[in-house]
Amino acid sequence: MSAHQAYSFFQSVERSFDKAAKFTNWDLGILEQIKACNSVYQMRFPIKKDDGSIEVIEAYRVQHSQHKSPCKGGIRFSDEVNQDEVMALASLMTYKCAIVNVPFGGGKGGIKINPRKYSEYELEKITRRYTAELVKKNFIGPGIDVPAPDYGTGPREMAWIVDTYASLRPGEIDAAGCVTGKPITQGGVRGRTEATGLGVFFGIREVCNMEDVMKKLGLTLGIEGKTIVVQGLGNVGYHSAKFFREAGAKVVGLAEYEGAIYNADGLNEDDVFQHRKKTGSILNFPGATNLAKNTDALELECDILIPAALENVINGDNAQRVKAKIVGEAANGPCTPEADEVFTQKGILCVPDMYLNAGGVTVSYFEWLKNLSHVRYGRMEKRFTENLNGHILGQIEELSGKKVSDKERQFIMHGPEEQDLVHSGLEETMISATREIMAVWNANPAIPDMRTAAYISAINKVATSYAELGIFP
Ligand code: GLU
Repeated sequence: MSAHQAYSFFQSVERSFDKAAKFTNWDLGILEQIKACNSVYQMRFPIKKDDGSIEVIEAYRVQHSQHKSPCKGGIRFSDEVNQDEVMALASLMTYKCAIVNVPFGGGKGGIKINPRKYSEYELEKITRRYTAELVKKNFIGPGIDVPAPDYGTGPREMAWIVDTYASLRPGEIDAAGCVTGKPITQGGVRGRTEATGLGVFFGIREVCNMEDVMKKLGLTLGIEGKTIVVQGLGNVGYHSAKFFREAGAKVVGLAEYEGAIYNADGLNEDDVFQHRKKTGSILNFPGATNLAKNTDALELECDILIPAALENVINGDNAQRVKAKIVGEAANGPCTPEADEVFTQKGILCVPDMYLNAGGVTVSYFEWLKNLSHVRYGRMEKRFTENLNGHILGQIEELSGKKVSDKERQFIMHGPEEQDLVHSGLEETMISATREIMAVWNANPAIPDMRTAAYISAINKVATSYAELGIFP
């Protein structure tokens, strides 16, 4: 806990939960059960490093809720990992899945290492050993608990996990569904890489298309022309920036942990990414102004601020200085409960993490379904749809005596590929979730913020599930 935080991360999640629970009528016992982390597995194991020395690694897997199976949530590699953090993140997964109607319980894993300080071979050993420990305790499996990428991990680590799992469970036909975020060749789904960033974009776009919301914030309708600042140029930040820019918004500020840059005319996330790759720093990007600290970016003048890095970055200390009208939480837990209070006072709309960044787990759900069904999306219907569309178009042209342009023809004829279906499923999920949460909020003017409305929506769904299941005697 740092000086500015009165609460640990898990306590912050509990506080937000309690704030929302007051607006529901659920039995206190059910609320208590929803809040609690059901299983916490803390482990230590040794690995031999490249120089021959032995290091003991600290790692966790937390299963917050089993009201639906399997549990679902990423694995993070960071030297900030601790039990409280993994518990908080696992809880957020339960609420996140409930909000976007993904039928999983919440889980999360963490390994306390800075991946930059290990060779690829050492990282592989750590990941494989971690997976073997999970297998030994029955903490992983397509019907038990399904990890995914998170901060510091990606498709490479997921490939090591699925390979280790499959070799320890020979003959398990659904082994590929033991983890998501895998490379395509290992059972991954097209569209998973950009999923969280695209979900952030779809969610904010839907909010920006709501007339009453924009009017209250003094903003014009739509994404076009809005100014955006993104903190974090990892997978989530990079893709969020990309989709906003492509939709006509101006990304005026970008931050990474060595500092931040600003350009009122807009920045191209890929040029900045390449610059950072070449020079080792986001700073000194041609045409942009340097800001000394990455947190300075949070205080920049803009319409929409997207914190896409780590938790607790906007807190009681700096929330007063946030100038954005909308804060879109692409990271997990970037704003503390103290920040929420400041936002309510200042009329800033904070679009909460546990729904806004649910694109990752939504597409993970699609990947898991693909693994269980053993067939690529689009394989059965693509050709059929193209033949049917071709036939309809031919009939229209014949009856009308007119021809459509080549561009229109291509668009109408096109049968869905895997990525089209995944993007469309994600778009539908994010739009419905935004509307659902806004409806909860609009139904009761006493609800102070969108996070509380999102929690109420999540609590109602999880509690209904417990109530309908009955509690095992
Ligand atoms: N780590 C991501 C999250 O925090 C994705 C989890 C998943 O796909 O299971 O939502």
